[in-house]
Amino acid sequence: MVRELVDNALDAGARHVTVRLAAGGVRAIVVEDDGLGIPGDELPLALKRHATSKIGSLQDLESVATMGFRGEALAAIASVAEMSITSRTSAAAHAWKIDAVHGELSAAARALGTTVEVRELFFATPARRKFLKSEATEFAHALEALRRHALARPEVAFALWHDGRLAAQWRAGTPGQRLRDVLGAEFIAASRELATQRGPLSMRGRVGQPEAARARTDLQYLFVNGRFVRDRLIGHAMRAAYEDQLHGSRQPAYVMFLELSPELVDVNVHPTKIEVRFRDARALHGAVQGAVQQALAGSRAVAAPAAMPAALPPAQSFELPPSYRQSTLGLIDAVPAVHEVRDAPRTALDDTEAWPLGRALAQIGGAYVLAENQQGLVIVDMHAAHERVVYERLKASLSGNGTQRLPTQPLLLPVTLAATPAEMATAEGEHEALLALGLDVAPLAMSVLAVRSRPAALPDVDVAELTRSVLAELAQVGASGVVQRARDDLLGTMACHGAVRANRRLTIDEMNALLREMERTERADQCNHGRPTWRQVSIRELDALFLRGR
Ligand code: ADP
Ligand code: MG
Repeated sequence: MVRELVDNALDAGARHVTVRLAAGGVRAIVVEDDGLGIPGDELPLALKRHATSKIGSLQDLESVATMGFRGEALAAIASVAEMSITSRTSAAAHAWKIDAVHGELSAAARALGTTVEVRELFFATPARRKFLKSEATEFAHALEALRRHALARPEVAFALWHDGRLAAQWRAGTPGQRLRDVLGAEFIAASRELATQRGPLSMRGRVGQPEAARARTDLQYLFVNGRFVRDRLIGHAMRAAYEDQLHGSRQPAYVMFLELSPELVDVNVHPTKIEVRFRDARALHGAVQGAVQQALAGSRAVAAPAAMPAALPPAQSFELPPSYRQSTLGLIDAVPAVHEVRDAPRTALDDTEAWPLGRALAQIGGAYVLAENQQGLVIVDMHAAHERVVYERLKASLSGNGTQRLPTQPLLLPVTLAATPAEMATAEGEHEALLALGLDVAPLAMSVLAVRSRPAALPDVDVAELTRSVLAELAQVGASGVVQRARDDLLGTMACHGAVRANRRLTIDEMNALLREMERTERADQCNHGRPTWRQVSIRELDALFLRGR
């Protein structure tokens, strides 16, 4: 009901909309606006225009209670509740008020705009009150309806009062400000901006990083041509965009505004939901998925310097001329050299030279790399981070040469491994699939396999272990056509084997190389399973740890 009444206010060009609820809206809903108003002689028409006698069945009533109607909102509400409308247009000398119960029209005092008051919902049908949920639930619905309006119309100011107290207020502002006000700074910080135009389709909004994902779909806002909708197609495209970053049970968080020319979309408004049907569903699916993937791909690490504090903490200067050599980490080719870190004069970092993820300092717990950047301390989960780097590298090299095969490196000495009958069978049956993954595996004896090549991208991998894992996974998916999903999983398995193991001691050069590789890698902020690969601890947070004020 709140949705319908606010819709009307916005249709009337309101710049300020105030909603007042009593007992969650069960006792009263009042919506005030400063829109065009309704002339006194048209007030009776507003109630009758789509005169309805449809509230015949309990089901109809329930849909009014939970969703409201469209197109006949006032008449429908008037049939189940006490309602009055007070309104004044700019041409009128004073306002008019109509009491919907008796149809009485009387002069009233009011500035330009309209007030719709709905009281004692279902006064006419007390037995049906049970269809109203608890007050708290009703209030939550009303608040959510208003949030959706607020997101769609940042230039309009909204206020929500509940039992005399201000429950929410959003001032008119820019779209960006409104997103922050409604969804919170936390979501803004954990999301990336998206703004693209593809042919007749424009998309803008923010998509949550995987770490902003939620257990429920409660932070998924999709607007099509300014109207909030839930849509399976777009929902699916969004999920697909997160495919290899989000665990299946987690729900991405996003707010997305799609604008497309009206002839490309049918909006069907039902009593219970708003449905859209798109003309070119496949193209739209692809465009949404692509745009979201692109927005997510840029690493936060790359953007980090923008958030630099004005006053830089003193830090050591260092030079980072890249020296090109193969590090023991394998994939990394450009390894910056770090000179005399300890004795260098302590001057501020030159921005131009600063790396977003900073300069490696140490490795602790066999698992974490510590680094210092402009903001403070960076902590990297080295295995998770490297796994992502390797995974992206594998993905890129698989699609890079157009053959859908990973480049292979023949082994000087074949690696042999004892194999179970099942492994022997998989090795024979999936020979082609294994080759595509860079593994040339063939039976050598009754229960012995020989591996004659490895993926070129995994120089340090334990070939026997990798082969066993891949065989096990291939046996499971039955890779006759290693479909996309299974392929990504396989690459994930391979990346895990290719990534630096816990407790491996890294040199400072290797640590720096890993940091630089992360900065270059798409989606480096999360591992393949959606866990973060690095964290920033700011100088301010360090100060707080030591109760030090600045
Ligand atoms: P609809 O919005 O589909 O026309 P409603 O029953 O919601 O149907 O509203 C009936 C009519 O009453 C509207 O078309 C509009 O002319 C008028 N109206 C309702 N609310 C307002 C308002 N807040 N300000 C100005 N006019 C309004
Ligand atoms: Mg309406």
